[in-house]
Amino acid sequence: MSRIKLLPETLASQVAAGEVVERPASVVKELVENSIDAGARAIEVGIQRGGMSRIRVVDDGYGMDRDDALLSLERHATSKIASAADLAAINTLGFRGEALPSIASVSRFRLTTREHGAVAGTEILVNGGRIETVRDGGEAPGTQIEVRSLFYNVPARRKFLRSETTETRNIEHQFFLQALAHPAISFSLVREDKIALQLPITTSLRDRIRDIYGAELLDDLLEILSRDRGGLQVRGWIGRAGVSRQTRSQQFVFVNGRAIESGILSTALREGYHTALMRGQFPVTCLFVELDPREVDVNVHPAKREVRFRDPARVREAIVEAVQRTLESGRADWQRKFSAPVPAIGGTTSAGAEAVERVSSQTPGGIMATPSRAEITEWDSVRRSSFAVPSQSASQLPPLGDRGDSPPIEVNRAYFEPQVEPRRDQQFQIIGVLNRLYVLMENSDGLVLVDQHAAHERILFEELRRRMEEQGVPSQRMLLPQIFSLPPRDAEWVEHNVATLQKMGIGIESFGANSFRVDSLPTFLEVADAAGFLRKVIDELKTTSHSSSPLRLGEDMIAKTVCRHAVKANDPLRYPEIEKLIRDLLACDLPYCCPHGRPTMIQISHAELEKKFGRKV
Ligand code: ADP
Ligand code: MG
Repeated sequence: MSRIKLLPETLASQVAAGEVVERPASVVKELVENSIDAGARAIEVGIQRGGMSRIRVVDDGYGMDRDDALLSLERHATSKIASAADLAAINTLGFRGEALPSIASVSRFRLTTREHGAVAGTEILVNGGRIETVRDGGEAPGTQIEVRSLFYNVPARRKFLRSETTETRNIEHQFFLQALAHPAISFSLVREDKIALQLPITTSLRDRIRDIYGAELLDDLLEILSRDRGGLQVRGWIGRAGVSRQTRSQQFVFVNGRAIESGILSTALREGYHTALMRGQFPVTCLFVELDPREVDVNVHPAKREVRFRDPARVREAIVEAVQRTLESGRADWQRKFSAPVPAIGGTTSAGAEAVERVSSQTPGGIMATPSRAEITEWDSVRRSSFAVPSQSASQLPPLGDRGDSPPIEVNRAYFEPQVEPRRDQQFQIIGVLNRLYVLMENSDGLVLVDQHAAHERILFEELRRRMEEQGVPSQRMLLPQIFSLPPRDAEWVEHNVATLQKMGIGIESFGANSFRVDSLPTFLEVADAAGFLRKVIDELKTTSHSSSPLRLGEDMIAKTVCRHAVKANDPLRYPEIEKLIRDLLACDLPYCCPHGRPTMIQISHAELEKKFGRKV
């Protein structure tokens, strides 16, 4: 007895719909993609009740004649590819010829379309995959598709829908993705018959980002310095070091204009950010990868969410490099803020400063006076020997708590010294220390708060990394070598990374099955139980290191260890120490976040202060 049956067309479409149309947002995605492929200049997306009761997409693209309109509802009917060769180099968003029949099979569907210049258009009504009406339609040129009661005939699917709010959020995410990828198309979003968002045509991605997320987000972003690498280009905008989100909601990646979710790309982003991203956080990116369509296979996933690269390593490298270069470029911004002289007190910048001067010249000792350069240098030379900020050599780090025998001087004392003329070329003025943790200072842009602990971590981190790259971290022999064993998988990991560990100053070697012998440790480490310490570090490194690159591994290792040795939050520092800390910080590659991605400095601009005090609206 034969058991195999050919599925009726409608049922086959419903099966296919299971893959293509997961939720209302997927309908929006497919319809908007079709409008983009049809050369639309304006696209309107209307939704009701999270798209569950109605989705409508209207475009001014080239439309279809009646034959095409009917054909577009057949499975495997597409105008976008015709041969296997076309499949190898796709440059449209669609190509599978599945979306319209799939959507029409699980909803009450209405298509009206009209070619530009045609006397009349066509209207087709479909109900659960069955064409019910075909007639002339009188809409404007372009195409309009309305999808009502999604999944009304597939209760199993309907049950999986989430709340109206969640579905709306998913739709908006899709909408933003498409809008970001196509700034030259105007987009509008209509929610429950009210216009929720209108995005005008623009030539720049920057404007599109601002129109969607507001100007504040732009302040947090840097434009990728793009560089053509043999036809492979990475461009767009990414969050500054230290800017991150708890979810991927603002991590947008596009490959040839198509929004993609790709493990390879996410990992590359993470690697590019590395210490500039807090653990467990996600970067903010609007990143475009452009390459020859023949280099990427988009026919991998039914919803076209994933792609396969012919040379994934090349794409990864391009992204890592672009992200790193861009983040470092952000440093120029900070340097600019710190390179202009701070307006001298009583200068011409604001009436407020004059008032302060009046007060300070009347008060004996003038509260706002700043120590002169000469004075600082003097402190410097007297107390240099007891500096706690080791930027020249990490190995010469004095142990914490031992900073010479003179008691620490509270930094703000300097401000009560007899009034001195502030130097006009001073790039920042230290005002004091708040809560024994935050250094308050003034630069040309306004007020800056520096987390002294985070700052010190960053300085130590970069110093150690430099040493590791140059000559390896100096290590110190232990009095008694220690032998310890590890679980097989950890042991395998260590075997694999022995050379890197040695370069990091850990004298480790294999000592029989799953056993190791450690006889030296980096000089900057002071641990009583070397084996215990290593077990812990190895465990952490194993889980946090995404890549096996020795440099990255070394960075992770350093980031793990420096924290313990950086200036503790409430270690009182002396004035010259603080000054040196700030100077060393500004000389770092990534001065604005610690090796764990937390910010080291917060700038509050004059403009922000004026706004807060109601001087300016
Ligand atoms: P695909 O996009 O993969 O080709 P679809 O099922 O999404 O498959 O669409 C089928 C065909 O219908 C498309 O190839 C296109 O020719 C036509 N079509 C769909 N939407 C539109 C539209 N908005 N404007 C013009 N033509 C469209
Ligand atoms: Mg399509």
